[in-house]
Amino acid sequence: MSTAPDPATAPAPAPAGDLAARFTQEFGSDPAGIWQAPGRVNLIGEHTDYNEGFVLPFAIDRTARVAVGVRTDSTVRLLSTYGDQGVVTTTTGSLEPGSAKGWTKYPLGVMWALRQRGIDVPGIELLLDSDVPLGAGLSSSHAIECAVITALNELTGAGLEAQDMVLATQQAENDFVGAPTGIMDQSASLRGARGHAVFLDCRDQNATLVPFEMEPAGLVLLVIDTKVSHSHADGGYASRRAACELGAEVLGVKALRDVQVGDLAEASGLLDEVTFRRVRHVVTENDRVLQTVELLGDRGPAAIGHLLDASHASMRDDFEISCPELDLAVDTSRAAGAIGARMTGGGFGGAAIALTPAASEHKVRDAVVRAFSEAGFTEPDIFTVSPAAGAMRIA
Ligand code: ADP
Ligand code: MG
Repeated sequence: MSTAPDPATAPAPAPAGDLAARFTQEFGSDPAGIWQAPGRVNLIGEHTDYNEGFVLPFAIDRTARVAVGVRTDSTVRLLSTYGDQGVVTTTTGSLEPGSAKGWTKYPLGVMWALRQRGIDVPGIELLLDSDVPLGAGLSSSHAIECAVITALNELTGAGLEAQDMVLATQQAENDFVGAPTGIMDQSASLRGARGHAVFLDCRDQNATLVPFEMEPAGLVLLVIDTKVSHSHADGGYASRRAACELGAEVLGVKALRDVQVGDLAEASGLLDEVTFRRVRHVVTENDRVLQTVELLGDRGPAAIGHLLDASHASMRDDFEISCPELDLAVDTSRAAGAIGARMTGGGFGGAAIALTPAASEHKVRDAVVRAFSEAGFTEPDIFTVSPAAGAMRIA
């Protein structure tokens, strides 16, 4: 059983049988079942979600697993194999935003959101084991929420569709956890499929699977976690959102989704210089997502490298959300043989991805580690991810 989900060294997640045995040992009865949900990587489409645009995340081969048992009373007992918080006990009747601390916010937030929908959630016992690294931009929090909602949807017989679960987990994150996140992460975790990315239209929330397989193309996708914390505390995120709203208002559109690449020349005369660059990032990024979807369908991942590169340049120069560590990870990967690389996630730290010929994987890894060391940066965690199945019951 993993105790710390360190991405570089984490063992495979505990086999379902081990998790069930640990559950029985902790709670004195057998679990009703075991469910899992993956973390995600966003392949392309950054800061487009709140502009009602396009994103292209995929579910990864790292999952949160929950063993869950149903109680006959309203008591809730929660335990994670990670950290040393021990068993946290509460009741279904005392679930309120602000009432939970630490990791239990995620399962309790889901229970609260289900109860808000009139679903009668009973007391439960829950054991969590995850190998999604925390805070690395792979959405370890949504992996937990999606595993829990998949379990509770089945155990309560609520019969929610995937889209209902997307919205319920969003409500849990926004109103219970207090994180202003959109629908991308849980859409990938709930709707993802092996060998596919999830093309998501954030305006109508329609999701389509797009083939995305690295192995047949002789490629691997490296995640380079810079370990720089992606805190938005400096207001960087809020100020980018505000610039996008201002841009849409001045250009007279509902959202920047409605501006096309061909409209940019005219827009440059209407906007101040900084707002124009923010707008240009969103508009060109939406276009890059559409191009990526088309190329993946027609020619496979070997054809999308230049779009990853252009996405990074746009975030670095126009949206200004990169940082020296991310730029170094991207530039070094490219120089060592990656066919495309970009920072992924909200920015100001977190991880970069590098699409790399399998034959160059070690060269890229070594080059990045060396470059970070020479720059005096913290050693990054580097690992591969592949597009994997979405949330499901495993036992
Ligand atoms: P991200 O979702 O990008 O990984 P967040 O800050 O949204 O980052 O979520 C990380 C939080 O999720 C952690 O601080 C912790 O509370 C919780 N978490 C994730 N995985 C686990 C785990 N295996 N055990 C306990 N808590 C976890
Ligand atoms: Mg999160």
